[in-house]
Amino acid sequence: TVKTRFAPSPTGFLHVGGARTALYSWLYARHHRGEFVLRIEDTDLERSTQAAIDAILEGMNWLGLDWDEGPYYQTRRFDRYNQLIDQLLAEGKAYRCYCSKERLEALREQQMAKGEKPRYDGTCRHGGHDHPADAPCVIRFKNPGEGSIVFDDHVRGHIEIANREMDDLIIRRTDGAPTYNFCVVVDDWDMEITHVVRGEDHINNTPRQINIYHALGAPVPEFAHVSMILGDDGAKLSKRHGAVSVMQYRDDGYLPQALLNYLVRLGWSNGDQEIFSREEMIALFSLDAISKSASAFNTDKLLWLNQHYIKTLPAGEVAGHLEWHMRDQGIDFDKGPALAEVVGLYAERCQTLKELAAQSRYLFEDVETFEEGAAKKHLRPVAAEPLTLARTKLAALTDWQTGAIHEVINATAAELELGMGKVGMPLRVAVTGQGQSPAIDGVMALLGKEKVLARIDMALA
Ligand code: GLU
Repeated sequence: TVKTRFAPSPTGFLHVGGARTALYSWLYARHHRGEFVLRIEDTDLERSTQAAIDAILEGMNWLGLDWDEGPYYQTRRFDRYNQLIDQLLAEGKAYRCYCSKERLEALREQQMAKGEKPRYDGTCRHGGHDHPADAPCVIRFKNPGEGSIVFDDHVRGHIEIANREMDDLIIRRTDGAPTYNFCVVVDDWDMEITHVVRGEDHINNTPRQINIYHALGAPVPEFAHVSMILGDDGAKLSKRHGAVSVMQYRDDGYLPQALLNYLVRLGWSNGDQEIFSREEMIALFSLDAISKSASAFNTDKLLWLNQHYIKTLPAGEVAGHLEWHMRDQGIDFDKGPALAEVVGLYAERCQTLKELAAQSRYLFEDVETFEEGAAKKHLRPVAAEPLTLARTKLAALTDWQTGAIHEVINATAAELELGMGKVGMPLRVAVTGQGQSPAIDGVMALLGKEKVLARIDMALA
């Protein structure tokens, strides 16, 4: 059975590149009814933080990328890595290296000066130099000197690298800590990962890791290396491009479903289909349809998708996400219309939930002032007559519904021989405090009779 994993290093928040990798890995597991593992690669003790771990878990949860196993933490598995490193030492597949930093530095400079790729020269592999028994050392993996490593990457295709291109990798540092390339192999083996989906920045590690699999006698998983995400200016996506943290998208008013849909299309396709429900993504996803070329982030498209989902997801679900923005903007939404109805009223007008919360504030709070320009144009001094008549008719309404309210506006306009706008606009400014809102009959229906009459009174005062 298929088993995949997402293995972030907790050195920062979950960014969109990581989220896309996680999504592809998750989709592949779900598509095959397999399992998905979350593993926190926290071996870099200096750069890993609990805040970053929390941020990653928060991002995964918000996106709804659920895991079947984990989170595992590499720092809790040091005994296991060290046990295997000792085994490789005993088998002669790894060796102690006593070369000093100074020596390695000098070697590196020499090689660079000759225009060569810096690589360890194997001094300690071949007997090395004299040293006291307790001298500090690292452990290096004996990379095969000959032959080559061949693998078929699901994204990048056939890859072949000669072993003589690779040097003997450090697998345990002087301080006793095992290194990334070793831990990742042990974990993927122990956790029985069948498909490794990760960023293409790791593709040069893969042949080295395959050699370690071989040395451990472990089966080699399949690989899919996903290309980079670029900003709209063609440079690698970074903070400069605005929001790159997944949670920043939540803060900016995006729905997780919109971001997922956006990310799945950013580097993967199914014909020219743009809209994918979660179920459709799972049903249609395949590693082999991932694009090889880098993809450029396009905020307009993300906005378009966001509005699509604001309009088409069940209003109750959208309302659940809207709550966060209401709280964030300090809007006391308990005292007002149901959020699902507010979503219904505003879906056509808003691209983000942040806008939706901001624009519907007047539904939950008293209108204290009228927007100056709108008031000047529609309220004073011309509107006393239509507002007064409309108020009388509204006060007499027993059936407080959009349709009936619409009739009142019509009747008022007809009676005073005014255009609809000459009644509707003053009402809009009176009731919402602003010159723009969804259809005013719907707004008034949602707001309730009592509040509408009170606001008209305030406008007339
Ligand atoms: N921890 C690595 C990273 O965050 C990923 C390693 C992997 O997926 O193999 O870049």
